[in-house]
Amino acid sequence: MAEFSFELNDDQKQVRDWLHGFAADVIRPAAAEWDEREETPWPVIQEAAKVGVYSLDFYAQQYFDPTGLSIPMVMEELFWGDAGIGLSIVGTGLAAVGVLANGTDEQIGTWIPQMYGDVDDVKVAAFCSSEPDAGSDVAAMRTRAVYDGANDEWVLNGTKTWATNGGIANVHVVVAVVDPEAGSKGHASFIVPPGTPGLSQGQKFKKHGIRASHTAEVVLEDVRVPGHCLLGGKEKLDERLARAREARKGGSGERVKNAAMATFEASRPAVGAMAVGTARAAYEVALDYAKTRTQFGRPIIDNQGVAFPLADMRTRIDAARLLVWRASWMAATGKPFTAAEGSMSKLYASETAKQVTAQALQLLGGNGFTREYPVERMHRDSAIYTIFEGTSEIQRLVIARTLSGMPIR
Ligand SMILES: Cc1cc2nc3c(=O)[nH]c(=O)nc-3n(C[C@H](O)[C@H](O)[C@H](O)COP(=O)(O)OP(=O)(O)OC[C@H]3O[C@@H](n4cnc5c(N)ncnc54)[C@H](O)[C@@H]3O)c2cc1C
Repeated sequence: MAEFSFELNDDQKQVRDWLHGFAADVIRPAAAEWDEREETPWPVIQEAAKVGVYSLDFYAQQYFDPTGLSIPMVMEELFWGDAGIGLSIVGTGLAAVGVLANGTDEQIGTWIPQMYGDVDDVKVAAFCSSEPDAGSDVAAMRTRAVYDGANDEWVLNGTKTWATNGGIANVHVVVAVVDPEAGSKGHASFIVPPGTPGLSQGQKFKKHGIRASHTAEVVLEDVRVPGHCLLGGKEKLDERLARAREARKGGSGERVKNAAMATFEASRPAVGAMAVGTARAAYEVALDYAKTRTQFGRPIIDNQGVAFPLADMRTRIDAARLLVWRASWMAATGKPFTAAEGSMSKLYASETAKQVTAQALQLLGGNGFTREYPVERMHRDSAIYTIFEGTSEIQRLVIARTLSGMPIR
């Protein structure tokens, strides 16, 4: 088991420096253009594929790092470059994790490569869980998957919303209800292979931030997928549903609940790391600006009113990173999240990104309010972190419930 260390190892440092170069040379210069265009930055994704940043091999290597620090490090650097382009690059990874977490070896080997495509023909993937009436309240999900035993096929019907890469993905991972009486325990995930009839893109959303990342509805109308597209397979699903039924009868369903909880706790620090990247980027621009902007005959940083917020910004960013690293290390080394440490890291890092980018905008004065400087975009982008992968209010609910053992609402 890896001891916790604040020091990245030599391999990690090398990857971090290489990624930082890619973020500075390729992502950051393209950020304003793709934010304005509000389109998926395919040429940047292709460039990332060419150098090996956008690839199954690279992602898997980071994902299975025993220290747990590689994924947050990767996220921080890419999102330091730009959040919208960063999400366009790692959005596929989020879908891939859904398959890695629940899929059989055969499913992992078949579908994840198709999510990425290859250097000459890059593809993306989407993870579709949220619905118009089921955001924070995942148990309210209505998309149905019904088994057609005669043909060994699942038939999916429903509407997904807010899906990153929804409709433009080569492979969609769709969460659907298989047992309506079992609440969130009656959900299962399905692969919808490329070109499957019945899946279409609904509305594409025009957004406040991360505008280079594609977000859309996904409509499923009698979408038929083969039985082997059920992630984990039917036997495992039947066992899980039987356990959930036992729990409803008064038996112990804790194992089912805890498995889902552990998955979220493990994935949330990655979003926290994205927020740390955006916060750090805005802080650096503000620090640089404060040293060079002169008013009243001296650099504005000469005033405590400017220097103290910078001190607070940096302190919060470092604290956020430490929470993120702790939770990622806990996930990688199988430590129990007895205080919802994953949710804590996401809550603190996402609130930090919002606060730090707002302070940075203020420190740049009029320039902060214009698109001449990147802080305005970073401020808009930062708003997503307290919303997706569980809002701040939901993180607080999870933490409070975990700490108290009470069903706080
Ligand atoms: C850009 C973007 C990309 C996304 N990508 C994906 C994706 O790839 N796949 C996917 O499945 N989903 C995705 N989402 C969806 C995202 O996860 C949801 O938006 C999020 O979970 C919140 O759900 P909601 O928008 O329905 O808000 P709601 O659940 O309606 O919440 C509205 C407000 O009420 C508060 N609230 C709700 N319940 C409670 C409560 N019990 N106590 C206190 N406060 C409460 C919330 O915190 C929030 O402030 C994405 C969203 C966005 C905006």
